[in-house]
Amino acid sequence: MMMLTKKMIEIRGLLQTVGQSDSLTLPSIVVIGSQSSGKSSVLEAIVGHEFLPKGHNMVTRRPIELTLVNTPDAQAEYGEFPALGLGKVTDFSQIQRTLTDLNLAVPASDCVSDDPIQLRIHSPNVPDLSLIDLPGYVQVVGRDQPPELKERISQLCEKYIRAPNVILAISAADVDLANSTALRASRKVDPRGERTIGVITKMDLVEPERAVSLLNDKKYALRLGYVGVVCRVPAGAGGGKLFHRGSGNIQNAIAKNENAYFSAHPQFAPEEQVEVGTRNLKKKLMHVLEQTMAASLKTTSEAIQRELAEATYEFKVQYNERPLSAESYLAESLDGFKHSFRGFTESFGRREVRELLKHELDQQVLNLLAQRYWNRPFDDLSPPFPETDPLSSLAKADPEGEDSIWKIKLDASSAALTKLGVGRLATSVVASALQRNIEFLIANSRFSAHPFARQAITEASTAILKDLSYDISDELEICIKPYKYRIDLEDSEWAKGRDNVTTVLKEELKVAEAASKRLEEVMGGRKKVKDVMSFIDRVRSGQVVLEGDGVGGAGGFSQALLSKGREAVFLRDRVDILKLRILAVKSKQCASRKNKYHCPEVFLDAVADKLTTTADLFLDAELLSKFYYQLPRELDARLGRGLSQDEIDRFAREDPKIKRHLDVVRRKDLLEHVLKEMEGLRQLEAREKRAVSRR
Ligand code: GDP
Repeated sequence: MMMLTKKMIEIRGLLQTVGQSDSLTLPSIVVIGSQSSGKSSVLEAIVGHEFLPKGHNMVTRRPIELTLVNTPDAQAEYGEFPALGLGKVTDFSQIQRTLTDLNLAVPASDCVSDDPIQLRIHSPNVPDLSLIDLPGYVQVVGRDQPPELKERISQLCEKYIRAPNVILAISAADVDLANSTALRASRKVDPRGERTIGVITKMDLVEPERAVSLLNDKKYALRLGYVGVVCRVPAGAGGGKLFHRGSGNIQNAIAKNENAYFSAHPQFAPEEQVEVGTRNLKKKLMHVLEQTMAASLKTTSEAIQRELAEATYEFKVQYNERPLSAESYLAESLDGFKHSFRGFTESFGRREVRELLKHELDQQVLNLLAQRYWNRPFDDLSPPFPETDPLSSLAKADPEGEDSIWKIKLDASSAALTKLGVGRLATSVVASALQRNIEFLIANSRFSAHPFARQAITEASTAILKDLSYDISDELEICIKPYKYRIDLEDSEWAKGRDNVTTVLKEELKVAEAASKRLEEVMGGRKKVKDVMSFIDRVRSGQVVLEGDGVGGAGGFSQALLSKGREAVFLRDRVDILKLRILAVKSKQCASRKNKYHCPEVFLDAVADKLTTTADLFLDAELLSKFYYQLPRELDARLGRGLSQDEIDRFAREDPKIKRHLDVVRRKDLLEHVLKEMEGLRQLEAREKRAVSRR
């Protein structure tokens, strides 16, 4: 029969993980008694260890669901708090401290909480039992305790002592049974005394005759009877002083003390037919629990079937019977991400790197040209820079003069470009483009709803890129080194540069013209803009002298309009210059590379192109291919093999939709599993019944 209880207790534990529902559980033994009735002493005598919270300050505030697991072949005794994940606790004083902390975490103002603490104790010295220890009934509410304390405890106990649970009602022998709060509470819910076991503690404190009369109480007759015990830990055997942890020896000491007492008094002799002793109490508890649990198997099975039908229905209707586990979800998500990453690697290669780099270097060339050739300051209200028309000055230059200003200018500009730190610039431009694309892939993947995974991928990609960039930018710098000293251009390269820079300048022109147009609209039409601009021009050419600094408006124009006007002048001049530059590039002079000093735009563009060609080849081979190889492996490490079961669960449950799906699948699986176990149990029970009847 032992096996049956063990199995049923296991199932009870499984059902607890399915969720709290009154019908979805197997009965347990609920222990009630008033404070100081000896309730803790009885439980500790059964377990063989002191482990319950002690103290005057109402230390039991939450129910303790105590599951005792008999481990006949194991020496070790230990406790486990499944909800806390502390692992095996072999030190029972540690269990006691943990229980005390968990109880004291309930604020005194709340009195009690009905959230149970789950504790499992494994030992060769305990029977297989499931017990629930409840806060002791208080007789008198202390001055520092809330007035509703008594009521709250009663309500909590009432909830637990409902059928089909077995009630273990503890009363002390030295208190009149009529005053026993435990028996009174029990009588309310079990008036015919069918599922209550009476325990009379402190039998040693009253005369044996009186003790016996208590056990034979007829006022509240119990079908399961009364058991008398002496559970005091004899001085010197423990009591928290000489307590040997793990040895379970308070059990022996209590038993010895108890036996000595009962054998010393003939009133308790076996022929007197009174039930005494902790050993007998344990046997009784095992027997009663097994009977009660077995009797509940059928109704619990039915309840499970109902729940299962509901879960199956939900699974079918809501999730189309799509199986899901946290692992499969993670694996699929990771595969999906790697797949889209592969797609990206095919679309982002040398050509794309080239475009990025060329664009970046075009901008650098434009900046250089602006600084070194077209640096006419356009600052609004100051007189114009006295340089003459740039186009004509270029034309007048002596192209043959070895150290002409134009040669020096071009050499300096070209050096500025090659010494820009192209290695680092190009590497970082490409690395940031890769990072941006990864962010985009994440945002469009399942991982977008998972902060943990998003972070893991971003970190993986940043780490790889950072690591690669360091060496690559140095190596690339070495690759372009020759251009720092000498740049030879082919005719074809010149022609290509001329075409490209024309396009770039035209683009710039378009942007400037569009900005001009927008400004026109804002300022209220072409005519208005013209008026304002001509006023500003007159100021700039000295025809008009401003009074003061122009703040607050001038020439009949408001301050705001003047400021817009300055922008318009800037844009107009920029458009003029760009047109001029385009003309220059397109001019006959710039058709041949021989005139490179006249055509810095073309020359620098061709240089930028050469740099780009070197860089794109190198970055494609070094940065892209290495990154494309390393990232999927790093993701496997961070999101695949590297994660514990807990982390995988936590990950999958970050997405509320997945969490609900997983919960339904889990509930269904668990219920199916429990139901199967229950079937096995019922067969086992039937076999045992047959075996008993044959004996
Ligand atoms: P609880 O408040 O109901 O948990 O009561 P305890 O188990 O803490 O016991 C209250 C007091 O009664 C403690 O001082 C125990 O040592 C003492 N006690 C418990 N059982 C017995 C017993 O069988 N005989 C004697 N003499 N004292 C006992």
